Amino acid sequence: MKLTDLTIAQAKNLLSKREISAVELTRAYIDNMEKYKGLNAFITETPEIALSQARVADENIAHDKARFLEGIPMAIKDLFCTKGVRTTASSKMLENFIPEYESTVSEKLLNAGITMLGKTSLDEFAMGSTNLTSYFGEVKNPYKRNGEDLVPGGSSGGSASAVASGQAMAATGSDTGGSIRQPSSFCGLVGIKPTYGRASRYGIVAFASSLDVPGVIARTVEDNALLLNVISGQDDKDPTTAPRAVPDFTKVLGESIKGLKIGIPTEYKSDKLNPEVQKLWDERAKELESLGAEVVEVSLPLTKFSLPVYYIIAPAEASSNLARYDGVKYGYRTKSPFHSLDEMYELTRTEGFGAEVKKRLLIGSTILTEEFYERSYLKALKTRRLICNDFDEVFKKVDVILTPSTTGAAFSKNDSLSPLDVYLNDIYTVGASLAGLPAISIPVGYDKNGLPLGLQVIGKRFDEETIFKFAHHIEAISKFDNTPSKVMGE
Ligand code: GLN
Repeated sequence: MKLTDLTIAQAKNLLSKREISAVELTRAYIDNMEKYKGLNAFITETPEIALSQARVADENIAHDKARFLEGIPMAIKDLFCTKGVRTTASSKMLENFIPEYESTVSEKLLNAGITMLGKTSLDEFAMGSTNLTSYFGEVKNPYKRNGEDLVPGGSSGGSASAVASGQAMAATGSDTGGSIRQPSSFCGLVGIKPTYGRASRYGIVAFASSLDVPGVIARTVEDNALLLNVISGQDDKDPTTAPRAVPDFTKVLGESIKGLKIGIPTEYKSDKLNPEVQKLWDERAKELESLGAEVVEVSLPLTKFSLPVYYIIAPAEASSNLARYDGVKYGYRTKSPFHSLDEMYELTRTEGFGAEVKKRLLIGSTILTEEFYERSYLKALKTRRLICNDFDEVFKKVDVILTPSTTGAAFSKNDSLSPLDVYLNDIYTVGASLAGLPAISIPVGYDKNGLPLGLQVIGKRFDEETIFKFAHHIEAISKFDNTPSKVMGE
């Protein structure tokens, strides 16, 4: 078996038995990074760092001091600050930004022994679902449609493309409205966005603070559980993290779902949904039923408002968060001559931000003006509360909600999609984001072009265990083969 085809669980086992070394494992990934450069998954590659960490890992293993993820080669989304390693958020604004500190999530992973291969691309400031908006160029999906290049999804598209093509065993992601789940679905991977407050946002470049959630993308449910074990927990540096004990998420894998209830939201059945996804959704629900779960129709009546609410709240928060990029303290400053402070701000921001970010900042700052605040922003906040209430009502009756992750498979930038069509992509993911609920995407099958399709399991707040339980069964039923060498046609 190729080293880059191993899952984390398999590699952990082989490393601990000393059947493979961390250095050879990390080298195998570095070779693939070279080989698949064309996908443009990485913004910054750090092979020297990875190899020196791998040497430490081998030492630790030799002395029986292996840490939990000792020697596991991972990529970090370039939204997570990494001390001494450039962190760009895919923006010209932060093209040369080298953080003085480490994000809590990457720090926890490094302390657990990973080797860091590099920083993966994303949509600029995590705004998007295509990875076409990175200042460092578009990222490609390892899967093609009759030879045509496709988007990997976004914003964590670099992470998904890297993992699917065997350029990293797993990667971090962040999810504000779907940025872990949608690219996972487009690239045939498993990705979890835990409950808001489960993992720390400290050191992650902010997009919309009430929605941003760090999480992970990997090939299997078990690998997701292993990683979530490491990145979760309360953090003094992020007051929105919850004082909740972190269970061992792998413990529930394989447990029965007998007697548990699955909700299927009526409002998610839409004519926008690809019938192939609908079919897989129906089939998996039936199969879970045959394992002893009960499937019930539920209603989330405000579903139609979730996209508009998201696209008011997220830009409003972004316009406030991104006000800090003014050319004064750090980041890009205009090279053009200026005659006043205001002019410096204006030139810096005009030159430093890309089109999608500017669009959102304009929307966000308009929404927050006196004229629009009450009738748009405040209304959106109130509607968000009602959307949360809808979910809470449903979760009085069911243990999980099963939905598609996206309306269909990955698309091409040449498909004639309006900006609205692209925003529509988030229809199944933004609900859980607005309500702060944990949700996972699992690959369940293919469309007629051989492209991966995913289903989403949404759980109760802080009940990632139950979604892992279901996800594990769905994975076992689906038998989706995301072995990187196979995906890459090696
Ligand atoms: N696609 C959504 C957006 O563009 C979600 C992005 C995200 O989750 N970071 O806002």
